[in-house]
Parts: sequence; structure tokens; C-alpha cells
Amino acid sequence: MELRLKPFEESFGKEFTHPGTFNGQWGVEGAPDFVESISPIDGAVIGRVSLTTEVEFEETVRKARKAFLTWRKVPAPKRGEIVRQMALRFREYKEELGKLITLEMGKILPEGEGEVQELIDIADFAVGLSRQLYGMTTHSERPHHRLYEQWHPLGPIGVITAFNFPVAVFGWNAMIALVCGDTLIWKPSSKTPLCAVAVIRVMDEVLRENGMPEGIVNLIVGSGATIGRRLVEEPRVPLISATGSVPMGKRVAQAVAARLGRTILELGGNNGVILMEDTDMELALQAVLFGAVGTAGQRCTTIRRLLVHEAILDTFTERLVGAYQAIQVGNPFESRTLMGPLIDAEAVRRFEAAVARAEREGGKVLTGGKVLKEGDYARGFYVQPTLVMAHPDMPVIEQETFAPILYILPFKTVEEAIALHNAVPQGLSSAMFTRNLIHAETFLGPEGSDCGIANINIGTSGAEIGGAFGGEKETGGGREAGSDAWKAYMRRQTCTINWGQDMPLAQGIRFGSGCTT
Ligand code: NAD
Repeated sequence: MELRLKPFEESFGKEFTHPGTFNGQWGVEGAPDFVESISPIDGAVIGRVSLTTEVEFEETVRKARKAFLTWRKVPAPKRGEIVRQMALRFREYKEELGKLITLEMGKILPEGEGEVQELIDIADFAVGLSRQLYGMTTHSERPHHRLYEQWHPLGPIGVITAFNFPVAVFGWNAMIALVCGDTLIWKPSSKTPLCAVAVIRVMDEVLRENGMPEGIVNLIVGSGATIGRRLVEEPRVPLISATGSVPMGKRVAQAVAARLGRTILELGGNNGVILMEDTDMELALQAVLFGAVGTAGQRCTTIRRLLVHEAILDTFTERLVGAYQAIQVGNPFESRTLMGPLIDAEAVRRFEAAVARAEREGGKVLTGGKVLKEGDYARGFYVQPTLVMAHPDMPVIEQETFAPILYILPFKTVEEAIALHNAVPQGLSSAMFTRNLIHAETFLGPEGSDCGIANINIGTSGAEIGGAFGGEKETGGGREAGSDAWKAYMRRQTCTINWGQDMPLAQGIRFGSGCTT
């Protein structure tokens, strides 16, 4: 597989070894401790990225803080201009970055390129946002007083990302944080360090061309338990934005709360789709296939539970089984492939364990359920897309298994469907298919879906960057990307200016002889 990624050509040796620390300067070449990047396509080692040492971590935090002192004073639209140039540069590298995502993470090429497009989209969004970091004014209760609020840059932001969106999730955080005037310390997943190195190299090119100081964008590489934990506990980093599993989120939330820092948590989902009796089957079929099988079931927004009205259960299930059996699993670079591999051997083990557990708990595998090990599949991490006829009392349906397993759950009434839908600990994305206005509005109303994202007649995944993205309950409550998610990356300041000759107190309080209302 030929990779034409300019930053790589210039910097990677034949073995694709690279320092994992960047703080304006790259760390030492060929450090003794490194992480291997393994392609899930065939299990081959495609690169070695050195782990960040304690000394490098200290230096990185120091530089991120120092750079913040300068970056926060650059006017926001000028910061936006630099992000605009980054968006252009990402466009130039779209094809190469897309290929790298496919090689390192295993998603099919159109999804790899789609992920780079998401990075470009959020950068474009951030450029406009750089002129719209609005504060509000309100009327003071006191004469000759002005009351308003404004937003200031916060500081260095720690961004911890998951393997499944090795580029876009950092982009959602980074592009917004940059226009907000923050600097960044990125700890990517150890499963996708090459993607992180590539993105940082592109951003660094642009920052250098603009004569910006070192330390605005930084990278550290290592496990969650070591360097991840170090970042989370670091008091000089006021905000940690962490994307990953619920157990990771719980650890991060506690560690950051212990120092009264702030978090944005984007954790696991267990997303449900309700198909009412008037579902447009053609639409639903397309949406369910993409939502449940796309990215091999490794999206936080993957459809994991399909709640089907009993009136259409047999017809829809039959069509879905047929569609599942036609899915081509294989090398994600091949155009006929719809589903690539899982990320690693551990993910395959979890898939097998979940299928076995579902069967033990009374579920029936309708299609799939097997690990693919023969021929072209022998060295990679491939499984079959799997449909399970389930029932509400199966505990396995409450957990997120990061694999293409879809549980079908029949129901009779809309109330039953919504109760079933909400009966899991996670609350990320949800959808209902119906043409019935009352059912749709019920689902979107206060007694409806309890998720951060609720859709009608589209699936749960593939969110646009313009909306705020995130979920409730164990999904963590964070919001990223569009809308007013930027506010989490800044500090709010409420200002009162007295331009009069008196000192009136709020609430009409009189304190001593000099004070009047
Ligand atoms: P993971 O939890 O194993 O790892 C995520 C990141 O957290 C990695 O960089 C890891 O090194 C780091 N980490 C782990 N423990 C840590 C600790 N104690 N301190 C600091 N960092 C720590 O997740 P994963 O397997 O890479 O990704 C899959 C999970 O991510 C799924 O649960 C998926 O739903 C979730 N996810 C959520 C969203 C969202 O926006 N809600 C998006 C993508 C993925």
C-alpha cells in the first residue's frame, strides 16, 4: 500500500518510526520506549511512535502555558485566519489522510475520507465562529450601571481521544479551542498514533508559516494509565476533554474533580432506533444498515438496539437479514467492501463473548455471529455483521459492545417502545421512524427519548458538525462541535461598570450613610 503523505515522506524513515512528543519541537528520535501501530487489516506493524517521557511531559505543559500567554492576545478573527489556512491544508491532504485512517484504524476508505471532511468542516465552522464569540448585555437594576458578560480564553486544554475517530474528534475540540484562544495538549489513542502525528504535522506547518510561537499545538503519546493519567491530574490544564469508554470517563471525571478542574466527557453510547408500524421500510433499511454496520459497529453512535413494532417485525426482519447477508466484509481499501475489520484481537474477543452471552441469555442469532479467520481474513481482525432476536430481560443489551451486533426487540405500543428505549444506562443518540406526527413529537418531547441526540426518519450516526454533539446519563453530558459548544472552552466573566456619581447597592441594600439605592 503506497502512502503519499507529504509530512510523512519528509520525516518518516522506512520503518515509519516517529517521536510521539511534540511541543513545537519533536521529541528524541528512536527513544527506547515506543508504541507499535498495528494495521487491523492484516495485523502488520506499520509504525513505531515513541512514548512521551516525564521530562517531555513537563516541558510540553510548560510550553503550552507559555504559548497560551501569547495566543490569548491574538485577536480571535486572526486566530480564525490561521484555522482557515489549516482547513485549506487539510483539503490538500484529504486523500492521503483518509488513506492513513483506513490503514491504521480499518474503516472503509469513503469513511476515512469522510472523517477528514469532518475535520475540514469543523475548521470552516470555527473560522466563522471566530467572529461570533458573543457575550450578552443585560439591563442593570441600578442607575448609570452597565451589566454584561464576556468570554475569555481558558488555558491549555487536554484532549484525550478514542481510536475510532482518530482525526475528527481531535478536530472538533482543537479547531474550536484554537479560535477560543486556548492551546492544546493532545493524547491520542495508542492504537492510532500515526494519524495523530500526521494531523499535528499539518497544523504545525501552518503555525510556523504564520510565525506563531512553539507550544500552541502539542502531542503526547502513551497509555491512559500512565501519560493519560498524568495529563488528567495536571493542575495547569484547566479543562480535560475526554472521549472514550464509560469506565475511562469515570476515572477521568473523578481525577479532574479531585482538583476542581473542568471536563467535557464524550463517552459510550447504546443507541436505539424505534420503527413504528408506519415506518417507510426502504428508508429504515438504508439507515439501519449504515448505522449498525458502518465503521464495523465501532462508532459511539452505532445503532445497537432496533425496536420494531410487532406489525412489521417479520417483514422488516426478513429484509434486514437479506441485506446483512449481502454485506461484503474485507479489506477496507477495496471499493466493494462495506465493512472492514475490528480494531484488534481484544475487540474480536469481546464480540465473541457478547454473542455467546446473548445466546445464553435467550437471544437467537439470525445471521452472522462468527469470527472470520480463513484465507484473506487470517491475519486481520474480521467478524460477521450480526443480528440477534432479543428480549428486554437480556442484561447484555444494556452494555455497549464495540462491534457490529444489532439486537432486535419487538414492541406493541409507543409507550412501551419509549420505556424500553430509555431503559439503558447510556444516553447518546436515538431515532424513531414514523410518519405519525403525534408519535414523532412524543419521542422528541420531555417524556420521549432521554438522549442528547434524537432524530426522526434518519439513523443515529453520522451527525453534522453544526449541532452540539454529546449525550446524557453515562455518556457523560459533554457537548462538542457546533451550536454554542464553544462556551465550554472559554471562561465567562460578568462585568458591571458604574459610570455614575453614586454607589448604589444591588437589592436596594443601605449600608452606612454613604450608600443610596
Ligand atoms: P478507551 O476508553 O479505551 O480509550 C479512550 C482514550 O482514553 C484513549 O486515548 C486512552 O488511552 C485514554 N484513557 C484510558 N484510561 C485513561 C485514564 N485513566 N486517564 C486518561 N486517559 C485514559 O476507548 P476506545 O476503545 O479508544 O474507544 C471506544 C469508546 O469510545 C467507546 O465506548 C465509544 O462509544 C467511545 N466514543 C465516544 C464518543 C462520543 O463522542 N461520545 C466518540 C468516539 C468514541
